[in-house]
Amino acid sequence: MTSDRTPEETVERLARSLRLRLEDDGRAGRVAVPRPTPQVGRAPTDRRRPEPSEGERPARPSQQPEPKPEVRAADALRKELATAAQHTEGQDLFDFGSPDLEGGVGREDALKRIVDEVAQCTLCKELADSRTLTVPGQGDPNARLVFVGEGPGADEDRQGLAFVGRAGQLLTKMIESINLTRDQVFIANILKCRPPGNRTPAPDEIANCLPYLMRQLEILRPKILCALGGVAAQTLLQTRDGITRLRGRFHPYRGTLLMPTFHPAYLLRNYTKDARQKVYDDMLKIQAELKK
Ligand code: URA
Repeated sequence: MTSDRTPEETVERLARSLRLRLEDDGRAGRVAVPRPTPQVGRAPTDRRRPEPSEGERPARPSQQPEPKPEVRAADALRKELATAAQHTEGQDLFDFGSPDLEGGVGREDALKRIVDEVAQCTLCKELADSRTLTVPGQGDPNARLVFVGEGPGADEDRQGLAFVGRAGQLLTKMIESINLTRDQVFIANILKCRPPGNRTPAPDEIANCLPYLMRQLEILRPKILCALGGVAAQTLLQTRDGITRLRGRFHPYRGTLLMPTFHPAYLLRNYTKDARQKVYDDMLKIQAELKK
């Protein structure tokens, strides 16, 4: 288990998350709890009970009214959260190796294959139609530190590289502040295509794209992940807690440690001494952990 939460705490956390999501229904920019997809790691045993076949499913008594839409939505959400919990609370994703590395494929080739797949991807029609280039992420195939941002902006879309615009320049400084170079880390995003106008990624876009990142992480098996900003942190940790609450400490994440910190674009907008100090503190914790 990667989590130190007890099952009771997990259920409570999910219930809280469910309540928050229901209360928040209709709020713009919601982050999806991504549904695990079959290609995202493999569980050794499927602890879910098999779906009953149509014949076994108890028929709804005809006098019982159809549940209200909000009740159906709550049921669907509860199922989604339960499946997501199983996915994160189960054994380490990284315990089972990467299917992409099977047959003796090296890390570099395995990562390259994902680059090629991403380039062909049309799962999100709007993004596929509007993108210039896909932005799969780049860096050292043996990186021990991986940064994950939200999604490409205009510069990244033009160059096909993650974090090469103004926010990217600040990320470079963050990396160099702990005596590393961009070549020594891996940099990727939750989304591999630019959302038009840099809007917040939609839940279905995150669900479509996340398997690519998960496969990259399975190949890389970094020691530390640094989630840049709320979207990356909330998506990876499957929480609705904000970045201010999440940042500054390591969260166990599937056999690695995940440090959420402020997104460099946020820092550019709030270039205060306090915000910069917080990010620097987070980087120093990463540096100390890498040295262990
Ligand atoms: N912001 C991101 O989240 N990712 C990038 O690659 C660039 C800007």
